[in-house]
Amino acid sequence: MSLSFDPASIPFRSGHFIGGSFVEDAPVLAMHRPSDGIEFAGCPVADAAMVDRAVSTARKAQKESGWGTCRPRERTNALLRWADLIEQHGLELAQLEAVPSTRLINQLIAGDIAVTAEQIRFFAELADKEGGAVVPTAGGQFGMIVTEPYGVVGAITPWNFPLSMAGWKMAPALAAGNAVVLKPSEMTPFATLRMAELSVEAGIPAGLVNVVLGDGPVTGNALTGHPDIAKVSFTGSTGAGAAIMANIARTGIKPMTLELGGKSPQLVFADADIALAADCIARSILFNGGQACVAGSRVIAHASIAGELAERLITLMSGHQPGHGWDETTTYSPCISGRQRARVHSLVQAAISEGAEVLAGAREMDYPGYFYQPTLLTNVAQDNTAVREEVFGPVLTLQTFETDEEAFTLAEHPTYGLAAGIYTRDLSRALKSLERIEAGTIWINRYGRSRDHILPTGGYKSSGIGKDLGRDAYHANRRSKSVLIDL
Ligand code: NAD
Repeated sequence: MSLSFDPASIPFRSGHFIGGSFVEDAPVLAMHRPSDGIEFAGCPVADAAMVDRAVSTARKAQKESGWGTCRPRERTNALLRWADLIEQHGLELAQLEAVPSTRLINQLIAGDIAVTAEQIRFFAELADKEGGAVVPTAGGQFGMIVTEPYGVVGAITPWNFPLSMAGWKMAPALAAGNAVVLKPSEMTPFATLRMAELSVEAGIPAGLVNVVLGDGPVTGNALTGHPDIAKVSFTGSTGAGAAIMANIARTGIKPMTLELGGKSPQLVFADADIALAADCIARSILFNGGQACVAGSRVIAHASIAGELAERLITLMSGHQPGHGWDETTTYSPCISGRQRARVHSLVQAAISEGAEVLAGAREMDYPGYFYQPTLLTNVAQDNTAVREEVFGPVLTLQTFETDEEAFTLAEHPTYGLAAGIYTRDLSRALKSLERIEAGTIWINRYGRSRDHILPTGGYKSSGIGKDLGRDAYHANRRSKSVLIDL
C-alpha cells in the first residue's frame, strides 16, 4: 500500500481540547507547509483566560475522577488502551504530523507511531510497580516515604517530534496520577490534539488530558506561570527554557524538567570502523534535516583517518531526494520555516567568514520550500560560529586531533552537554571517554535513540535539568512525604 496522500484531504481543526471536547477558537497564526511554503491552516492562541479554563478543568478532573488515588492498575489499563488506539490510528496521526512538520510519512509510520505507543506502555506498566518505601529507623519508630501525584502538570513541546514528545510528557505524568495541560508547538499542533481526543476514547477520564494551542509568549507564559500548575515539563530551546525558569521564579517556585538544546560531538578515533562511523554521522545530521536536539553536528576525527571519513561523508550526504513529507519517495526534509533556513544560512556564512572551508553544501537548495543543502565545513576553530552555535539544520563541522587528550578538549562545549558519539574498537578507550565527556547520553559505535525507553534522557550543563523517559521520568511526576511514626 502506498503511504503517499493528498494533504488537502486532511482536516485541521482550529481549537483547543479541554475537558474532553474541542473548544473552537479563531486561527491567529498563519501556518505554512515547509516543503513548499504554501499557507494551509492557522493556529489559535489561547490567552490567559483560556489557559485558566484548561488548568481549572484539569484540576477538577484530577480530584473528582479519583485518577490519582485509584487502584494504580486502572491507570495502567487505560493507558494501555490509549497506546493501542494510537497504533490503530497511526496513519491518521502520521498524516496530521507530516503536513505541518518536516517529518516524512514513511519515517513516521515506521518509527514515531510505534515509539509513541511503546513509551505509553512503558509508563503504563510502571504505575502499579513503582512506589514509596519503608525506611530503616531506630527501634520503636516506623519510617516510610509516601509518594503522591502533583495534581496538574503543565507540559510544553517543540515542533520537531510532536507525537513522541507528547508521549514523553503525558505518559509519565498520567501514569503517576496527574492531569496534564499540554501546549504543543504552534507550528505542529494537530497530531497532539488527535492524540488527546483518543485518550478519552481509551477511557482516561475527560479533563485529564487537555491541549491548549498558542505561542510561547502568550500561551506558554500563562501556562508555566499559572498558580495551579504544580510542575512544569518542557522540551525546546535553551533560550525558551531560560525564559520559563525566569517566569517560574517570578510567579511561584515549582519543580521543572527542562530538555533543551545541544551541540553534540562525535569522536572518531583512529582505530574506528570508519564506514560505520560515517554512516552513523551522516544519518544523525540528515535525519529531519538536522533538526533533532541530539543531532551529532560536531565531528572530531583523528587526523590519520579524517580524509577518508570526509570523503565518505560527502558521498553519504549527497543524492537525497527533497520533497513533501506526504510523498513516500521523499528522503530529505526541509527546514521548518523560511526564517529557520535563513538563520542556518547566515550561521554558515558567518562560519565561512571566520575561516571555515566548505567541503559540501553551504547553499539554499534550488527547490520549492525551505530546503538547505547538506553541509560539511572544516578548518573550524573551537570558537567558530558553526562549532559553537546550535544551528538546527543539516550542517556538520569536522575538526581533527592527534592525541586522545586533544579530542576530549575539543569535545567539551562551554554551554551544551546533551549527547555524544564515540567510535572506537578499543574498549578501554571507549570507557575512558565516558569519564571525560560531559553529556547526558553517550552512544558508542552507534548514534541515536530508538525504542530504549528504559534509558532516561536529559542534558548536562545548559542542555537541561532532570530526565525524560526511564523510571526517573515516572518519579519526577510524583512528590514524596517522609513519615515517621512513634510506635
Ligand atoms: P522553541 O524553544 O522555540 O519552542 C519550544 C516550545 O516552547 C514551543 O511550544 C514554543 O511555543 C514554546 N515556548 C517558546 N517560548 C516560550 C516561553 N517563553 N514560555 C513558554 N513556552 C515557550 O523550540 P523549537 O524550535 O520548537 O524546537 C527546537 C529546539 O528544541 C532546539 O533547541 C532543540 O535542541 C530542542 N529540543 C530539545 C530536545 C531534548 O530532548 N533535549 C528534544 C527536541 C528538541
